[in-house]
Amino acid sequence: MADSADTHPHFWALLDKLPVALLYKESAKAEILANAAARQLFGFTANQQSLNLSQLSEIRLLDQQQKKISLLSNPLLLALGGTEFSQQVILELKGHAAPYQLQSQLIKLQFSLGNTIIVTLCPLQAAASSSPLSKTAVPAPDIAELEEALAFDKLMSLISTELINVSSDALDLHVEDALAALGEFCHADRSYLFQFNHDITEMSNTHEWVREGISAHKDNLQHIPEHALPYFFEKIQQDHIFAVSDVSQLPPEAAGERQEFNNEDIRSVLCTAMLAGQQLIGFVGCDMVARQRNWTSNDLRRIKLVGEMIANSIQNVNYRSSLQQIQQELLAANQELQKQANQDGLTGLANRRQFDEKLLEEIQRSARSGLPLSLMLLDIDLFKPFNDHYGHQAGDEALQQVASALSKEAKRQGEIAARYGGEEFALILPGSDNQTCQEIAQRVQQHIKALNIRHAKSDVASYLTASIGCYSLVADKDTNAKQMLNKADKALYQAKAAGRNRVIAAS
Ligand code: GH3
Ligand code: MG
Ligand code: MG
Repeated sequence: MADSADTHPHFWALLDKLPVALLYKESAKAEILANAAARQLFGFTANQQSLNLSQLSEIRLLDQQQKKISLLSNPLLLALGGTEFSQQVILELKGHAAPYQLQSQLIKLQFSLGNTIIVTLCPLQAAASSSPLSKTAVPAPDIAELEEALAFDKLMSLISTELINVSSDALDLHVEDALAALGEFCHADRSYLFQFNHDITEMSNTHEWVREGISAHKDNLQHIPEHALPYFFEKIQQDHIFAVSDVSQLPPEAAGERQEFNNEDIRSVLCTAMLAGQQLIGFVGCDMVARQRNWTSNDLRRIKLVGEMIANSIQNVNYRSSLQQIQQELLAANQELQKQANQDGLTGLANRRQFDEKLLEEIQRSARSGLPLSLMLLDIDLFKPFNDHYGHQAGDEALQQVASALSKEAKRQGEIAARYGGEEFALILPGSDNQTCQEIAQRVQQHIKALNIRHAKSDVASYLTASIGCYSLVADKDTNAKQMLNKADKALYQAKAAGRNRVIAAS
């Protein structure tokens, strides 16, 4: 990456104009930059812009008693280490000792990472005649311009810091702030943001700032097609900049643009493209209304900065919202998978896998709480003859109906109805004792009876029936699932043996 002096020549040109010696160091970088006055003061060559600490530590600094200050308390080095202060120092240069006001200030500049320390050394009045600076003819600085540049950078860094984590609703407000700052600092009458559609065939004005007394045009500037402003569309795509100081000087092929600008009494236009990666997403622009302005290099720098900042924020917000969407989709897909992994495909009840897990959990819960736990096993009576007689399809439908009858009794917290095997079902009933379990089993049989599924081959009843085995306990640390299942299965076997279509509870 190029350093700040390369990327921000205007900034450096301004600093070089200052009669004050100035050292500049970004916290993230080792190099120390010196402006022209500082290079002159310390006797460094005119084209050596960057210094190192050892060069600076050779500069003799004296205290008020004209004693040499030790390296450890050298205010120049302390300042460059990031300490803010303002104090008088005596610099000994070429045998001359002269007082200077040394001031160090931490600031956050838009174009630098982290903080930047700026150290200024200002000759004090008493020493003015012996100051090496007074002998050099430094061009008068444009302090106002420098201050304005710094103020703009400060404002931008403030807005951009807020933009980093901005939500999509707050984005609009911050974009408006940035446009207002841009308009004010570029002395423009209007500033705006346009966004292109994906294939850059049309553009819409999404945000606008206008100076007092200037009319707003946002609402009339929606879905402007490429063929309405072909010259502009081509320029902004090719050059990424559209700078026209005098609209009347536009070439003949820009007749459409000239017409449009005339309609709105626009005399000067400055637009810069906003890119998201390689993709042109829109542009930021400024207008002069009823009066003309020759855009300056500072205007250009500012508008580019604002364009970049807004493009980054839009990208961030888009990136974050698409990330959120993907996350949500993943989460939903995951839940669906989880459900499928735990569900019986035919009946939608918990499958054997989930049943095993839940039974274990409930045994542990019962052991902890001392509350009873019941297990019910249900097996459809004479289902083989049913299948043989009515067909496999009818058998499947009957299984689904029995499953729904069973689910009616698994509504409370923790209760689970499961398909245990082929035509065997199970019900886990936390908090239910033996008595309650049997009552629930009776109700399940009622529900199955109510289904009234014809079963011509049954010698138990004219409709489909089921036998149920129940087992209840208060679990302790030695209880295991296998024991419980064996007990319930034994009760079920007894119910079958006793003539089917009945409930038997294991003792
Ligand atoms: P019992 O009263 O002694 O339980 O007699 P049963 O005929 O119900 O018992 P058996 O174990 O002999 O037969 C179970 C039948 O359940 C055999 C099989 O065809 C049927 N079955 C198991 N799973 C399914 C299924 O998913 N769909 C269908 N349609 N039938 C199934
Ligand atoms: Mg069976
Ligand atoms: Mg059976």
